Amino acid sequence: MILILRPDITDDQLVVVEDRLESLGVHVHRARGAERTVLTLDGDEELLRSAQLEALSGVERLVATQKPYKLASRDYREERTTIPVGRAVVGGRRVVVMAGPCSVESRAQCFTIGEAVARAGATVFRGGAFKPRTSPYSFQGLGQEGLEILAEVRDRTGLAVITEVMDTRDVALVCEYADILQIGARNIQNFSLLNEVGKARKPVFLKRGMMTTISELLMSAEYVMANGNEQVMLCERGIRSFDTTLRNTLDLSAVPVLQGLTHLPVIVDPSHGVGDWRFVAPMARAAVAAGADGLMIEVHNTPETAFSDGKQSLLPKRFAASMAEMRKVARAIGRTL
Ligand code: PEP
Ligand code: MN
Repeated sequence: MILILRPDITDDQLVVVEDRLESLGVHVHRARGAERTVLTLDGDEELLRSAQLEALSGVERLVATQKPYKLASRDYREERTTIPVGRAVVGGRRVVVMAGPCSVESRAQCFTIGEAVARAGATVFRGGAFKPRTSPYSFQGLGQEGLEILAEVRDRTGLAVITEVMDTRDVALVCEYADILQIGARNIQNFSLLNEVGKARKPVFLKRGMMTTISELLMSAEYVMANGNEQVMLCERGIRSFDTTLRNTLDLSAVPVLQGLTHLPVIVDPSHGVGDWRFVAPMARAAVAAGADGLMIEVHNTPETAFSDGKQSLLPKRFAASMAEMRKVARAIGRTL
């Protein structure tokens, strides 16, 4: 069960509500968000229903949910969540495209790619400054220097910026530069990190892990939301299957399935989903057709010399062509892009 409190509840009223719940033997978790406080309740449902909690001052409504994820569920919020970032609104009618290189490599590289993707209609620039690499000997990212470059791209192009944060110790630093905090597939069940970004006041972008079920992904969103941060986006980026032809298997059914279970926006990353630039554009079109609220696409001006993921990166001109195709699909289903 979820007890939604009024935004103007006083501290005294909150004490009365929590005392009442304690007297009912209910275990209470308090999620204090920027706009309102929500209590998630673990206790006997019949008892809670008959306790007249909605009659208490400062209480807005009691919501029943049987799901293990509560704040992420549609029981908590029927209407879709929209998240403003820069010029874009994620979760609205317009499909939001986030594009850029896998890794931030240099100013020149990011300026070139940033200007190209902005011209083609992207509204968010992506680029990793902290890179989760399988080998410790691979390029690990430019760190703070990379974050500074991302902020310069924002200044030059007007694009909002998304970048990965890998470590709880870096959350405050990344918040200084980024508009959206990306949690990578490998960290999707790093609960300390989820708690930390849950305390931040920046939107969080959660990438489904290669072995993560839909329900586990929603529980990861719940960690962030239980800490008071309700600005969460979910991203399907391919899962591991028996077939090794491609880097991953892009699970596009996750889009309608998630949208049925949660009010949070759902994004698709076809680049990591297939791992080969030749299949990115068709899967990007398919993602729009499936109803994705946004796309994350890797773009590089010289993929053959990219520090990471060159093989799956689109050249700027191919990205622009893919945008034009996606726009047609968006229009066909009553959306814009
Ligand atoms: C990335 O976006 O470059 C990345 C590392 O993605 P993932 O966490 O999905 O592998
Ligand atoms: Mn990548």
